[in-house]
Amino acid sequence: MASFDTHNRIHPIRTAEILCVGTELLLGDIVNTNAAFLSKRLASLGIAVYHQTVVGDHPERLRVALSDAFEGHGRPAADLVILSGGLGPTYDDLTKETVAAYFGRDLYLHEESLTAIRDFFNRTGRVMTPNNEKQAMMPEGCVVFPNHYGTAPALAVSDATRTAVMLPGPPAELIPLFEELVVPFLRHYTEGILVSRNIHIMGLGESTVESLLHDLMVSSENPTVAPYCKSGEVRLRVTARAQSEAEAAALCDGLVERIHEHRDIAPYIYGVDCENIETALVRLLTRRGLTLATAESCTGGMIGQRITAVSGASAVYYGGFVTYQNEIKIKALGVDPATIAAYTEVSAETAAEMAKGARERMGTDIGLSTTGYAGPTGGTEENPVGTVYVGIATKEGVTTHRLYFPRKSREYVREAAASRVMMEAVRAVLGLV
Ligand code: ATP
Repeated sequence: MASFDTHNRIHPIRTAEILCVGTELLLGDIVNTNAAFLSKRLASLGIAVYHQTVVGDHPERLRVALSDAFEGHGRPAADLVILSGGLGPTYDDLTKETVAAYFGRDLYLHEESLTAIRDFFNRTGRVMTPNNEKQAMMPEGCVVFPNHYGTAPALAVSDATRTAVMLPGPPAELIPLFEELVVPFLRHYTEGILVSRNIHIMGLGESTVESLLHDLMVSSENPTVAPYCKSGEVRLRVTARAQSEAEAAALCDGLVERIHEHRDIAPYIYGVDCENIETALVRLLTRRGLTLATAESCTGGMIGQRITAVSGASAVYYGGFVTYQNEIKIKALGVDPATIAAYTEVSAETAAEMAKGARERMGTDIGLSTTGYAGPTGGTEENPVGTVYVGIATKEGVTTHRLYFPRKSREYVREAAASRVMMEAVRAVLGLV
């Protein structure tokens, strides 16, 4: 590899764009996992990624994408562009040629790369065709990262203000090349490490969270706080930049603590950096040595399915009833027919008896229930489509909540109701002595 300590001791790198090349990506034939990988890794190196772009195997469109990335054209310009794909031997692999032309560099035959490519073919017992020589053509003044995992070497081209790093498309080559050679190269030019924490909030809308934390969000520069909506919940991403990971983590944790102290938000936080509500619930029950049973009507077993998807759930989850018909609610859970007659099956009273029945019949500490109108048909004036009652039975008694998700799809209502009853279970367990 050409030495990058002395070569083109380049500009600081703060911002990056990821530019993936490949018509296959545009056609949806392959999923852009390289972009996801590179974004994650760049964030941890303290490099902010503002854009990800995909272009087909087309030199003019690639040239335009490159100039948009480096020159901004009305958006923040990138100090670094990481390109993936298009380094292969065929006529439509044009990344290197296009980037070289953009930087005004000629290509030359890089003898070391040619030898390495020949060795790779000998080692793997494959026949090298003349077009593989194209992979050893390099822009003048570039840094070459030898590829021990395939034939196309990776490379970086820089001038006084910009750097383009080109990586081969196959993830089995891109990932190790990035980790082993590109990360050390980039570390010379980056300023600090980024660390993020995700605070999971359920039961408050994004706009409410935003208005409650508006002042904090506007005034915080390091760490920054940004809300994201994800599957019926709000995630607050706290991100700090510092010289070391420990320092950045301490900055993040300080702000996470402040948000936990916010009286209007704290009751809705179910975890930090946990995958989802079911994982948070299983972990909490495990820590407290508590057990759980479910009685589901409109969610049809979704809660059970999601809980059992969490590794370690068997220690806390006994099982569940899926009781769709009223008769089964009565027979399997012991719901009083008079309750259904007086209040209907979609009511707080029925939800309460379902949760209590599940808890008692399975002999667990907690029973959860759902009953509602997921739609699109059904519902009443009092309880229109999108209304779900959930019940949480503990040794202290039963609590119920009425949830309402207007104008949402059947799937959304079911998923959201399952999530919210698990959230209520977390809150109930935290309140248990
Ligand atoms: P090669 O030297 O193998 O030809 P290349 O650099 O020319 O590599 P492409 O031809 O663009 O890369 O892609 C080769 C393969 O790499 C694709 O068929 C696909 O399997 C995978 N690949 C390419 N780009 C991506 C991406 N962005 N995310 C995930 N996989 C990708």
